[in-house]
Amino acid sequence: MGVQQNYIGGKWTDGVAAKDNVNPSDLNDIIGSYAQADAHGVTAAVDAAKAAAYGWNRSTPQQRYDVLEFVGNEIMARREELGRLLSREEGKTLPEGIGEATRAAQIFKFFAGEALRIQGEKLASVRPGVEVEITREPVGIVGIITPWNFPIAIPAWKIAPALAYGNCVVFKPADLVPGCAWALAEILSRSGLPEGVFNLVMGRGSVVGEAILNADALGAISFTGSADTGKHVAATCAGRLAKVQLEMGGKNPFVVLDDADLNVAVNCAVNSAFFSTGQRCTASSRLIVTEGIHDQFVKAMSDRIDTLKVDDALAEGTEIGPVVDESQLKQDMDYIEIGRQEGAKLVGGDRLKLAKDGYYMKPALFTETTNDMRINREEIFGPVASVIRVKDYDEALAVANDTSFGLSSGIATTSLKYASDYKRNAEAGMVMVNLPTAGVDYHVPFGGRKGSSYGPREQGRYAAEFYTTVKTAYTQP
Ligand code: NAD
Repeated sequence: MGVQQNYIGGKWTDGVAAKDNVNPSDLNDIIGSYAQADAHGVTAAVDAAKAAAYGWNRSTPQQRYDVLEFVGNEIMARREELGRLLSREEGKTLPEGIGEATRAAQIFKFFAGEALRIQGEKLASVRPGVEVEITREPVGIVGIITPWNFPIAIPAWKIAPALAYGNCVVFKPADLVPGCAWALAEILSRSGLPEGVFNLVMGRGSVVGEAILNADALGAISFTGSADTGKHVAATCAGRLAKVQLEMGGKNPFVVLDDADLNVAVNCAVNSAFFSTGQRCTASSRLIVTEGIHDQFVKAMSDRIDTLKVDDALAEGTEIGPVVDESQLKQDMDYIEIGRQEGAKLVGGDRLKLAKDGYYMKPALFTETTNDMRINREEIFGPVASVIRVKDYDEALAVANDTSFGLSSGIATTSLKYASDYKRNAEAGMVMVNLPTAGVDYHVPFGGRKGSSYGPREQGRYAAEFYTTVKTAYTQP
């Protein structure tokens, strides 16, 4: 198979190098070879977008609807195939991969509808005879930089609103998962978009990403990834006064109160901490449990860890796929060692050797931990969670909020009083009651507070805040 190329100015274009896409479930399985651009590739993409921007910024809602509906329909029709590709390159289980592809389709179809519903306001002026109109216009050209852990949903929830609101796009996916990004670009290339409106530039963050951040013509940058890279993105964008939107890491708490239904609590905690191999920004890694239910909860969690099936992401019955790559697996293992040295007790956490050579590990649960340990302060981004014992609800809430992050925050309780109080006082962008911290709807805002997010919210109607700019026009008829 040849090298899958970049898509720039409506043409498939070679890079300066190529990189293999390796299946983390089976290191002998090479999914394909993908072009790697350099800074010149970014310049070509930005120039193509500049040439296309005037026309696309003025496209009709119907043109935008037709493009987004086409993309959504095709992803939906091919969700099993795309979900399989996703699981093969990223390592989440096949049902999770198909679920993510389905969600990407739904996002495109949602924003197809939003293209028809862009609203403005008309007001009477304070001056006699004058009319005032407030309209939303496209920002212009948007740079989109995405992480590896949601290879199709995150590109979808940035690209779809960017196009719906009339912007051109220069898109750089994470190096580890070019397969889904390329497949999405291939669908977009047949969607009826004028050339140059959408551009795919694959390659390294330090090269391609950096060139995107510094391209003056890009009036807005939407980034999802780690907190350290995010801070660099924000500083670079501030330096040239570009609009910026960051979604970053989490250290999400899940509180279990004495009055919780134990099954609900354990199911939510296992899902939140270990599904998708714990590689979700909304994963809960701190399980904050009150004294009365603590021992039962730890026993039930430990029993479940023993039965969770870790295997090839594509194999039937797999519950936990591999870690995405060697360096992430090393990071997970390093934190297992750090937790041990900090004095926590460990269940699971072993490196697994299976029939296929892949990056497998058994989910890990630390118990007898305190919130000041490094394992409870730093994002690990693997199937590793800690139990923190607290005496009552007030202490649980205080510990839940005692973190530099603020993305998602969950609680298991049957008390209306505590559920209501938690929804009001959890310092997070998203709160879940008797639900896992991960797993969100596609038609409502997504994002966090503190070190987890910066700038306007993503998804739902709130996406308009980032992808449009407001104009106020005065008329004396
Ligand atoms: P990362 O920060 O390493 O990379 C993210 C993207 O930025 C990649 O495309 C990368 O190539 C690019 N990049 C790297 N250096 C760059 C630079 N100097 N300039 C421009 N771009 C650069 O993150 P990752 O390892 O791919 O993803 C994991 C992280 O993403 C975790 O911290 C996770 O919590 C976070 N995440 C957050 C959300 C959310 O919505 N809050 C969702 C998913 C993942």
